[in-house]
Parts: sequence; structure tokens; C-alpha cells
Amino acid sequence: MLQVKKFVFNPFMENTYVLFDETNEGIIIDPGCVEKEEENELTEFIKGNNLVVKHLINTHCHIDHVLGNAFVKRKFNVTLSIHSAEEPMLKAVKTYAPNYGFPQYQASTPDSFLNEGDEIIFGNQKLEILFVPGHSPGHIAFYHLENKILIGGDVLFENSIGRTDLPGGNFDTLINSIHQKFFTLPDDVTVYCGHGSETSIGFEKRTNPFCALSQL
Ligand SMILES: [Zn+2]
Ligand SMILES: [Zn+2]
Repeated sequence: MLQVKKFVFNPFMENTYVLFDETNEGIIIDPGCVEKEEENELTEFIKGNNLVVKHLINTHCHIDHVLGNAFVKRKFNVTLSIHSAEEPMLKAVKTYAPNYGFPQYQASTPDSFLNEGDEIIFGNQKLEILFVPGHSPGHIAFYHLENKILIGGDVLFENSIGRTDLPGGNFDTLINSIHQKFFTLPDDVTVYCGHGSETSIGFEKRTNPFCALSQL
């Protein structure tokens, strides 16, 4: 049975996720830990549950989602996978991190690239990769078909959507991603967002003011 553990890290209140199952294998998605206490909180959870971390993946590479990449790679001896279109975004973080108040930021580099249709396997679990650009050019999401769970990053939030004014962002592309990749999933899929609370595909289809069909 897939378990989802959420941490809220860094001043951007970013959601970091650990997914794991009864085999004790797990993965870390978007580690935003930057303070020592945040790193300890993540480590204690992993150690406390005797988890073996198999993958480190980023939905996209804005600073709030990658602050803990270097720490996680080092601490748990895992490789980092992202979409190739996010590589320039990840590289750029080093240059703007001090301006955002993170002079101590440690850069990380990807070890492999993920594309739509690829699968992430750990324990008895399988996640399918969806390509959902718009908030950033190489944004991907992770769909667990069996449990109807979507780790959606900064694409769709509870009654909101990801911002599109950052480099590589595009409003029309984002809306298309939501309609073509997210709203074609079953209504009872739970969306674990990059910020804020969980929501569901059905709820957002009915109530999200940014995603009304008239805006297609
Ligand atoms: Zn973002
Ligand atoms: Zn974010």
C-alpha cells in the first residue's frame, strides 16, 4: 500500500513528499529542506521508518523545490532525475539563490532525465510520468494509477494554478496541460500539490476559477 508523507519546508511553504510502501522502499520528491531542523526532520522520518530511498526526483526546478537536492543526494546516496527542459532552470538557481536569501545553497546536478510515459518504480509501486509544462518548461507530475494519487507540483492548486510569470512560464501552455493531462484523469484522483492542501481532480473541475472550460 502506497503511503504519502508530506513535509512543509522553507519560507515558500513548499510541500516535500516522501512516498513509500510496506517493502520500506521509498522516494523523495522536491526536497525543499534548507535549515538544519528541516534536514533533521526529513532524516528522522526516513530513519525512523527504516526506509531505503531509491530515487530523488523533482517535479520542476524552481528554488523552493530543489533547496534540499544536494543534501538528499549526499545523505541517502541517491541519484537525481528531472525532465531535461528543467536542467537550465536547475543551473540558474545557483545564481539567484543569494538574492532569495539562500547564500548557503548547494548546487546539484541531474543524473538522469525523465520523459512522459516513463515509470518510476520502487517497492511494489509504480508512478507514471506526465509532462505538464506551463508553470516551468519541463514540469512533470507523477501519477499512481492504482491508488488514484497525483503528485502534481506547481501546476494545479486548490482553486488556483501555478504562476506563469517566471522564466519559461506560459499561461496558455499551463491551462492546456491541466485540461489535457490532469482533467482527463478520474474525478476521484487526489492531487498532492506543491503548496497548500490536497485537492481532487473532480473538485477543481467544478470549482477552479482559472480552469473553466470557457477559457480553453
Ligand atoms: Zn514552481
Ligand atoms: Zn513551488
